Amino acid sequence: MNMYSQSTNVFNRENQKEMKKTDEYSPSLFRSTKSFYNFPCAHRQFKHSGNCSLIHGYSRSFHFVFGCYQLSKEGFVVDYGDLKELKNFLEYMYDHTLLLDEDDPFLEQFKELEKQGVCRVRVQPMGPGMEATAKFVCDYADKLLREKTKGRAWVENVEARENDKNSSIYFNPNAGFKGWNPSP
Ligand SMILES: [Zn+2]
Repeated sequence: MNMYSQSTNVFNRENQKEMKKTDEYSPSLFRSTKSFYNFPCAHRQFKHSGNCSLIHGYSRSFHFVFGCYQLSKEGFVVDYGDLKELKNFLEYMYDHTLLLDEDDPFLEQFKELEKQGVCRVRVQPMGPGMEATAKFVCDYADKLLREKTKGRAWVENVEARENDKNSSIYFNPNAGFKGWNPSP
């Protein structure tokens, strides 16, 4: 084997298979990104002692990094056509909505206002902040992607931005190949 074939050999399929079996913590070989912009969303963090306990809003955006070891037959990490449900989910959660903590003492009053058409209330398990948002969105997208690709691709991390200045990044602790037929 000459030097050339040794160095290119790293990328052949046999070695990719070996790597998956022996080292599940290997970084994914291929990555792609997808961004979704401009979700006008209000929130309030009732536990905050400052301004963040007041209802205020931002134009949220979401930046995904996807990973895989083996590309699709078309040569993609992710076919962006498979991300329609993700876009719908982001619109449901963050487009003209009011995000609240599930323990917000005014939650019932806000839900009353929702019935009267004043707001659309959404609740996230860990609250409305950007850290919780990044994790919440990552968990949803990772499950969706594994279903769509039969486990071939996953979410590496998600950056959730509330404006130009502030964002949170959640690194998926379950990133990596977990089998081709994950149980639903
Ligand atoms: Zn704030």
